[in-house]
Amino acid sequence: MMVKQIIFAVTLLTTLAVFSFTIQRIIRYFKLTRKAFPVRDPVKRFRVMFEVAFVQTKIFRKPVIGLFHALVFWGFCVIAFGSIEMIIDGLFGTDHFMSIFGPLYAIVVASGDIFGLVVAVCIAIFLVRRLFFHIRRFEGIEMKKVSHLDANIALSMILILMISLLGMNMAFVALHAGAAGAFPGVYPISTMFAGVFNGMPSERLNLVYECCWWLHILMIFVFANVLPYSKHFHVFMSIPNVFLSRLEPLGKLPNMDSITREVKLMLNPESVVDMPAGEPVIERFGVKDIEDVSWKNYLDSLACTECGRCTSVCPANLTGKLLSPRKIIMNVRARMKEKGPGLVKEGLRYSDKKSLLRDYITEEELWACTTCNACAKECPININHPTLIIDMRRYLVMEEASAPSGIKWIFGNIENNGAAWQFSAEDRLLWAQDLEIHVN
Ligand code: SF4
Ligand code: SF4
Repeated sequence: MMVKQIIFAVTLLTTLAVFSFTIQRIIRYFKLTRKAFPVRDPVKRFRVMFEVAFVQTKIFRKPVIGLFHALVFWGFCVIAFGSIEMIIDGLFGTDHFMSIFGPLYAIVVASGDIFGLVVAVCIAIFLVRRLFFHIRRFEGIEMKKVSHLDANIALSMILILMISLLGMNMAFVALHAGAAGAFPGVYPISTMFAGVFNGMPSERLNLVYECCWWLHILMIFVFANVLPYSKHFHVFMSIPNVFLSRLEPLGKLPNMDSITREVKLMLNPESVVDMPAGEPVIERFGVKDIEDVSWKNYLDSLACTECGRCTSVCPANLTGKLLSPRKIIMNVRARMKEKGPGLVKEGLRYSDKKSLLRDYITEEELWACTTCNACAKECPININHPTLIIDMRRYLVMEEASAPSGIKWIFGNIENNGAAWQFSAEDRLLWAQDLEIHVN
């Protein structure tokens, strides 16, 4: 027993060490980003998290596949209790430690056993769908071979997790079937299938149980360390991302504090006394590269499931334009992966002569956005694409005076006439000259 505990403890410590190394690297990347909005209103945030993340309300916009996805999520939540118990048993040499909770334990174990099968079936459907059917949502210039491979590997790992869980439960039920007295937990699905082990000697049954136990727990450890490098990192990141999502109405664009300050000063130089002292020097307006994005933009990129729901409703993409909102989010993650290590090592002056703008996201993509917010509305984990697109446009306009000619023409009118039209403000009411309208 002791040997098993020692091996388990070493394996667990190794897993935690590798995982914490990865998390520290990600935290260092977060430190490179800019501030976003203040995180206020915790009650509202918990409500949004409950509705969007736990009840999975947005995922049901596609009812059938949405239900499968929701079942997988709920299954993960229930099965996680069993995984915690396995860690306690592995470390302390106990056997089904949580059975001390009596009937509650039986309910959780029974739910975990049922969800084991449900999740396995759903994952098998997802895999078949990805491998043998052409789903338009999973295609696009941003969906490289490696993206598909990543998804298929993660799904296969989850399938192995569920098969090993059911194998472990079935062997456990078969081991205790003939024994006098009750055994901990209730296993409705595994009891149904435990007959496959009929006639197997108990030593061999025990071996099957131990193999499945180790396979299951090792897969969890490997999975936990693979996830941060995979699109399936959303397993960890989607709930915090929903909790920290923007609470303002979708169409509301955040003002730039630095510009607001400049305008206030221009209109009333005395207003400077009302402003906080020591305002930071603005090094760049808008977003050009990865160090200009906010922590929320980066969190969005880590949480993105690459499901393509955003791109599938984007009017620009649907009408053949280059823009894909999923690509914008994926590009943020890829660029941080590329430039992040250099920035961490050499500071913000580090340059690799590339940038998020142009090397990853072209001006054509940015100006194709209609800011309709359909992508943000559709995203099942409340990612907000238009705010980032607008911030990149802000860079183009304010730092490079670069915009499509049609828009530049409007800028000129605003500058000269105080309106988007090409008429002087004094001429605005000329149309009413011969009408008997009294203008005060
Ligand atoms: S806001 Fe822009 S990116 Fe999003 S759906 Fe509309 S056009 Fe597409
Ligand atoms: S941004 Fe949201 S909707 Fe788009 S691919 Fe990522 S998770 Fe899916």
